[in-house]
Amino acid sequence: MEKHIFNAGPCKLPQPAIDAAIAAIRDFDNTGVSILSISHRTPGWERIMAETEQLWRELLNIPDEYAVLFLGGGASTQFFTVPANLLKNKAAYLQTGVWAKKAAKEAKFYGDVEIVASSEDKNYSYIPKNYVVPTDADYFHITTNNTIYGTEIHTDLDCPVNLVADMSSDIMSRPVDVTKYALIYGGAQKNVGPAGVAFVIVRKDLLGQAGRPLQTMVDYRTHIGAEPKNNSMFNTPPVFSIFVMHETLKWIKKMGGVEAMQRRNREKADLLYNEIDRNKLFVGTAAREDRSLMNVCFVMQPEYKEHEAEFLEFAKAHGMVGIKGHRSVGGFRASLYNACELSDVQALVACMQEFEKKFL
Ligand SMILES: *Cc1c(COP(=O)(O)O)cnc(C)c1O
Repeated sequence: MEKHIFNAGPCKLPQPAIDAAIAAIRDFDNTGVSILSISHRTPGWERIMAETEQLWRELLNIPDEYAVLFLGGGASTQFFTVPANLLKNKAAYLQTGVWAKKAAKEAKFYGDVEIVASSEDKNYSYIPKNYVVPTDADYFHITTNNTIYGTEIHTDLDCPVNLVADMSSDIMSRPVDVTKYALIYGGAQKNVGPAGVAFVIVRKDLLGQAGRPLQTMVDYRTHIGAEPKNNSMFNTPPVFSIFVMHETLKWIKKMGGVEAMQRRNREKADLLYNEIDRNKLFVGTAAREDRSLMNVCFVMQPEYKEHEAEFLEFAKAHGMVGIKGHRSVGGFRASLYNACELSDVQALVACMQEFEKKFL
């Protein structure tokens, strides 16, 4: 039976990227050596690194003033690396979920942290509005897509101070005006590759001003390097993860870039939200205007609550993978990242309609 993968991360990747990965494990770049065994100093690999950076710059229109880095440690390592590099006195954070809360916690090691607004009062089911960002903050940190709760900030905010964004779960899902941000980071495993690599896009002129000594690996300037550049090669990069990211970006480009991704993602999300709103068994958990195009969270209506486990079993038997909601929200979550096809969502919707028939 065909599997429809809705995992929240690591998640579904484009089949061409997976096929290229399999081929490269056997033989990388006609070298007769597996990608798992090559030296990261071989010219063939240096070309992949350069192309990967180029693809990022092309797809997101990243200007030369920004460095693009590929680092280990996941998004969680950036929670402390960002303040280590950018926080002088005070930082402001928008608390839209546990990832945002965890990011703020790490910033406290380096200075004052002001939580400008939080939606914790309603289990992070909405994005706070009408808050004021203090103009004396070194930066304002947001989480553009809240993976666990299915809420998303759909626009690039105008911000009076440097804007920093965790875009782990919506990077490359839509066009972004990079020039509005001081720094963008995230783990690759939600939309641009497998686990094992994080991306950082940072405006170079902001670095080296935090006024504290930094460990070599924590200082972004180490990874940017002087001429000749380190290009994220100061130490061994996550070679295989970057290879698959490279193939994933090639696929995004071939499909028409981030504008095409946005169209696809809107179509998929519309289809599923419309079914949730129509189907008498289900109800969405996120505020309508903040609904995420990436993670669709829903639960059973109170009067059908006892059938939740039954629906999960039913869906599983129909090939659905990974639709159990995060424990802090419950119910269901379908992650519709770039590689998820409209046909996957159609299969899930058919499953919801089929299940509803039991109660008509
Ligand atoms: C998954 C996730 C993280 C954590 O990423 P790791 O790479 O596992 O450290 C951080 N922020 C957001 C928004 C996420 O979805």
